[in-house]
Amino acid sequence: MAQVEFAISKVERQEEDARLEALASTGILDTAPEASFDAITRLAAEYFKADTVLLGFADESRVWIKSHWGEPVRELPRRQSIFERVLAEGGSVVVPDINDDPEFREWRLPLRRIEARSFASAPVRSSDGKILGALIIFSCQPRRPMAVTELHMLESIADFAASQLELRRLRKNFNGHRVRHERRDEVVTGIWPRKSDLRQALEKKQFVMYYQPEVELATRRIVGLEALIRWAHPDRGLIPPMDFIPLAEESGLILPIGDWGMSEACQQIQQWRAEDPDQPAPRVCVNLSARQFARQGLADHVEALLRRSGVSSQQLGLEMTESSLIADPGMALEVLSSLRRLGVSLLMDDFGTGYSSLNQLHTLPFDVLKIDRSFVMRMTEGEQPLQIVRTIVELARVMGMDVVAEGIETQEQHGLLRQLGCRFGQGFLFSRPVAASVVSAMLHLPGRILPDPAAPRTVPN
Ligand code: C2E
Ligand code: MG
Ligand code: MG
Repeated sequence: MAQVEFAISKVERQEEDARLEALASTGILDTAPEASFDAITRLAAEYFKADTVLLGFADESRVWIKSHWGEPVRELPRRQSIFERVLAEGGSVVVPDINDDPEFREWRLPLRRIEARSFASAPVRSSDGKILGALIIFSCQPRRPMAVTELHMLESIADFAASQLELRRLRKNFNGHRVRHERRDEVVTGIWPRKSDLRQALEKKQFVMYYQPEVELATRRIVGLEALIRWAHPDRGLIPPMDFIPLAEESGLILPIGDWGMSEACQQIQQWRAEDPDQPAPRVCVNLSARQFARQGLADHVEALLRRSGVSSQQLGLEMTESSLIADPGMALEVLSSLRRLGVSLLMDDFGTGYSSLNQLHTLPFDVLKIDRSFVMRMTEGEQPLQIVRTIVELARVMGMDVVAEGIETQEQHGLLRQLGCRFGQGFLFSRPVAASVVSAMLHLPGRILPDPAAPRTVPN
């Protein structure tokens, strides 16, 4: 059987060496499976209804498959693979029907399960633009040619894989765990970050928003998104909020950072609406810290932001913890009421960890209670922690609030929460917080239903 081979000479030797060096610097080859890469192939499989999805990185002689869907392959000889064509073309490749493509008519994939009839692929690039690998979707049926928006989606998902890779590289360069610990030590001892670092980060636009889907537990349908800030530090990688939000609060920089966050979330809502004008955009919830909440004229500020961005108030939610409300309960009621009048949703975050005075809770106009992750984590440990969650769910029901369980990581927790009548939840079981472009792909899933992690990995024909 003839095999199509793409001559390596098409790629300059020097360029190839630089590419291999970039690949080596990520440390991705011969590594164990990782959930974040699996989520990427799973998402592409669901979105494109593909039979097989491969995410692989090409070294000199082979393609290391970092994650696969529908085909249990670990590596492929590079010469026989579509990866070679991706490299040679320098970009995305779409072949709607292999039989119509003279270069590929005789081509057979060295894969076990499928007789691919069509495929599309998008390159996964290093931060300086070198193609390290590709995300490829295969179908047993010929596909109609891809729409531009579909190709854009495939490229977005591949870009997300690239950002995961970049993170690995940053971590590796900074010596993995050691740097992580050093960073934590520095954070704990207050050496890093300093106020000036935060101010610079703001000026240099180094903050990014990730979004975590909130789902209806019975269906895994996305009903909302929580905006969670990260600091994309050029040397230290992606810094979690707990490492800089406390300093931002203390120094007052939380106000401009919070403003950035809210306006970023609003712009993103508009972008998702434009991508899918026929469906309502899901509600996006932004976290407010105590200092933001205590700010004079918060409601006016939010109203002005909504007006400026054109976002309707139903599409925005604000999350606050109990501790940011207790300082001045009278003021809290006043501010919450004026926010409520605007029409934004109000969510009580981390419920159960603060000083909830039930008395106070029922006078405050919250729409949603979010059960803190610590309760969800302990739910499976015995009757008492389970009883606490049951009580919170019941409490919310009596007060006419929705409940969202935070930090759902296992099927068991998911099942128990459903039994207790908790309707909504978020957690790594459904999705980690992800970049906005990945949310775009998720929002295009049929019914906006996230893949079932318990489903067999092979997509049935
Ligand atoms: P939060 O509002 O309670 O957000 C939930 C946190 O739990 C997020 O952490 C999320 O990544 C994490 N999480 C979600 N599901 C799971 C799970 O299944 N397992 C585990 N282990 N963790 C899960 P993250 O993003 O690190 O945020 C931490 C906190 O930082 C947030 O807690 C919030 O209080 C604060 N924060 C985040 N973004 C902002 C922001 O833009 N402004 C302000 N003021 N605070 C923010
Ligand atoms: Mg929150
Ligand atoms: Mg929370």
